[in-house]
Amino acid sequence: MAPSFHEFDLIQWIREQCPNSKANLIGIGDDTAILQPPLNSEMLFATDMLMEGTHFTFPPATPERAGRKALAVNLSDIAAMAGQPHSALISLALPKSKGPEFAKAVMQGIINLAKEFQIQLIGGDTNSWDGPLVINVAIIGTAPQSKSVKRPGAMPGDWIFVTGELGGSLPDHHLSFTPRIHEASTLNQTVSLHSMIDISDGLASDLNHILRESNVGAILDATTIPISNRISADEPKQTRLQHALSDGEDFELLFTVSPEDGKQLLNQNPLSIKLTHIGEVTSRQTAFLQHPDGSQTSLEDSGWKHEL
Ligand code: ADP
Ligand code: MG
Repeated sequence: MAPSFHEFDLIQWIREQCPNSKANLIGIGDDTAILQPPLNSEMLFATDMLMEGTHFTFPPATPERAGRKALAVNLSDIAAMAGQPHSALISLALPKSKGPEFAKAVMQGIINLAKEFQIQLIGGDTNSWDGPLVINVAIIGTAPQSKSVKRPGAMPGDWIFVTGELGGSLPDHHLSFTPRIHEASTLNQTVSLHSMIDISDGLASDLNHILRESNVGAILDATTIPISNRISADEPKQTRLQHALSDGEDFELLFTVSPEDGKQLLNQNPLSIKLTHIGEVTSRQTAFLQHPDGSQTSLEDSGWKHEL
């Protein structure tokens, strides 16, 4: 659709903020962007849409932080494949009542994070309507041929690891987290990653995605789950654990490796963030949580559910 005058101004402004920084690429300004696939690479594509009222609310979000989150969640998907982000397309449904400064602020949040991760904005679409803010990002990434890490691939005996700390992502962390692009790439160069996912729905739910795709089960040691200090220490232990298992929007990496590689990671963590061994993959196709008293409970799909 032809953009209104303000939208035309906005696109011109975006173009000035994002000069082409990559070779073999035509970005904003034509009917489509064009890019030459890098030699000996596979290309990764993902898209994620964020809606005001569901994925963020004003406050605690600001227009910048909402824009930042929209790109960051897409970066997290590229990280989960151990890919490098390359470029992105941004589609906005802007509330008519908010005006051009609001639109610029949303784009500024996106542009700042794009620069941090050297991502070229190569296009998008800009519309306004009477509804709330909707931001869709389509991201393109690359990985060396057959080097991206998929969900299937977990094997009985594998050790299960998680980066960072889990739980309590609302109200702030989901707006300010660092996508684990560099960490995933370092891990992929250090060990053989059998399977990987980013934690968006919650540890319990996302581990189940890996397990189902790999036709295996798991046993997690409840005492090792890294519970974030974002969750109050005053909460009962069981409640804190439940938050870490199922709050979601942690955007940490969950992955499995052979025990040998697992030992190497424990001996010398190549990351500058916490890396925790939380359990093992089993051939029984169910997932259990092992408690300190020796009892085991089923790790149900207790993650955050998208409201449809
Ligand atoms: P068309 O009519 O061909 O869809 P538009 O007028 O919608 O073109 O957009 C003009 C150019 O600006 C296109 O290259 C498009 O990809 C880009 N663009 C539009 N909105 C955005 C945005 N929010 N972020 C980045 N690029 C955008
Ligand atoms: Mg358009």
